[in-house]
Amino acid sequence: MTNQTDVSHAFTIDVEDWYHGTKYVYEDIRESRRLDYSLNLLLDILSEYDVYATFFWLGKAAEENPKLLKKVASLGHEIGCHGWNHEPICRMDRNRFKDETYHALSLLSDLSGRTVTVYRAPYFSITQESLWALQVLVELGIQYDSSIFPLKKGQYGIPNFTPDIHDIATESGFITEVPISINKVLGFSIPASGGGFFRFYPFQVTYWNFCSLQRSRKPAIFYIHPWELDPSRPFSNQTFTERVRNQLGIKSTEVKTKRLLKNFSFNTLTKVALSFKNILASTH
Ligand SMILES: [Zn+2]
Repeated sequence: MTNQTDVSHAFTIDVEDWYHGTKYVYEDIRESRRLDYSLNLLLDILSEYDVYATFFWLGKAAEENPKLLKKVASLGHEIGCHGWNHEPICRMDRNRFKDETYHALSLLSDLSGRTVTVYRAPYFSITQESLWALQVLVELGIQYDSSIFPLKKGQYGIPNFTPDIHDIATESGFITEVPISINKVLGFSIPASGGGFFRFYPFQVTYWNFCSLQRSRKPAIFYIHPWELDPSRPFSNQTFTERVRNQLGIKSTEVKTKRLLKNFSFNTLTKVALSFKNILASTH
């Protein structure tokens, strides 16, 4: 049964192949590319539930799969940017970040025929130390950023960061920040909606997190990677830790994703952020 509510949640996809951001040399594994399979599966699932989503494309993935990007755009989904080569922002200086992001945005705009105005950093790597990146994004025309995890997550995240969608002033103008969702349980903040947590949690935990946010009229910002729907992706040559992290719950991700789409209403990141800001304006 679908939850009856006027809150739509954001369905977002970080578009990269299984080897992006790993130590593998891309040219050596050309025959192991899986993005065409896994992204088409995701497109079919979204179509089944009549949902439009935001696809944050890695520049490298777009360069390797131009036809696929054009297909996603032609289906009416939102195109966002996920950087060029999956390098964490906190390892870059301002000039390199600006150059690489500009490079990625140019390619995505050329292929999709649209101006790209939404961004998500690899590894959610806008941290307290790299908040300068928001100003660079404004200078590059980005209006919505979804790169901040409002709790400590490995090397990344900003604990105690405002978890709701809000505008941030930079020296070059405003940007709307759309943080990754968290939920409070017994006074503790836990990740609410996506990636490895979605694979790891029993479905009921994600369901409860979504209901809890919805009761406060807040949207969940759900994120997933195409490879998380692909149990046949290569796992060889990975360390034990990598294998455990990447294989965890992967066989049930497709079923869980369908249950989520059946139970809740979803839309693109931009539409969800605008709707939240409108709700906020109407209650003040
Ligand atoms: Zn990524």
